[in-house]
Formats: sequence, C-alpha cells, structure tokens
Amino acid sequence: MFHFEEEIDHVLRCPQCGEILGSGRVDKRFCSLACKNRWHNRQRLPNRDKEIQRVLRVLNRNREVLDKLLKLGLHCVDRPTLIHLGFNMNFFTSLQKSGRHQWIYTCLDIRYELTPTRIRNIAYLWEGAGSED
Ligand SMILES: [Zn+2]
Repeated sequence: MFHFEEEIDHVLRCPQCGEILGSGRVDKRFCSLACKNRWHNRQRLPNRDKEIQRVLRVLNRNREVLDKLLKLGLHCVDRPTLIHLGFNMNFFTSLQKSGRHQWIYTCLDIRYELTPTRIRNIAYLWEGAGSED
C-alpha cells in the first residue's frame, strides 16, 4: 500500500524529502507531518484529476440533454425519457429550495425542477424563470 525507500543497510528515508529517518523509528515513514501530507497529496493528484474530469463529463452530458430539450421547445419531460437521453440526476451544480417540497436544480446555466415523475420548468438561467408547463 505505502511505498517507501528502504536501503540495503535498512536506513529509512523520508519518501518525500529523502531525509534519513532515525533508527528505532521503523513505524515512522516520514520525517514530518508536512512531508507526509505533501507525499499523500501528490499521490492523490492523478485520481483527483480523473474524478474531476468524470464529474465534468457527467455535467456536460446533462447540460447537452437539457439544451437539446430546450431547443426542441420542451420544458418538461418524464423521468424515463430523461434517463433514456442519458441524463444523470445525481449530478447538478446547485440546489435551492423554492417551496415546501420544491427544489430548483441548476446544471451550469440551465435550471430545472424534479418531481417524482418528471423534470419540469427547464429554462436557461439567462432567460429568467421558465414558463409553467
Ligand atoms: Zn521529509
């Protein structure tokens, strides 16, 4: 799981800065907490970037679906249709309560509401509030 340099003479070095760690501290992998954090952050970067790219792809896909519906003049479709078009309801960029049981979602520059059966009031944010369906 953790990789750290161990030389033939069992001298342990901090995997971040290379400083030799004191003997008798075999449980200690890093010379300091700062090095430990730096090393773990560096290891995490590729996964973090991959995850960010994945989330951005989902959001862009969601926006494409909403944009397509709006260009067809549709402000409301049922959930199965939405899912069929490739929309992922778990991803959005903001969520705002607008009534007792009503929430307004946004995906980048497009807002919408989700009910148990459908998506409605889809509208571009820059065009103001959507028309009732
Ligand atoms: Zn170090």
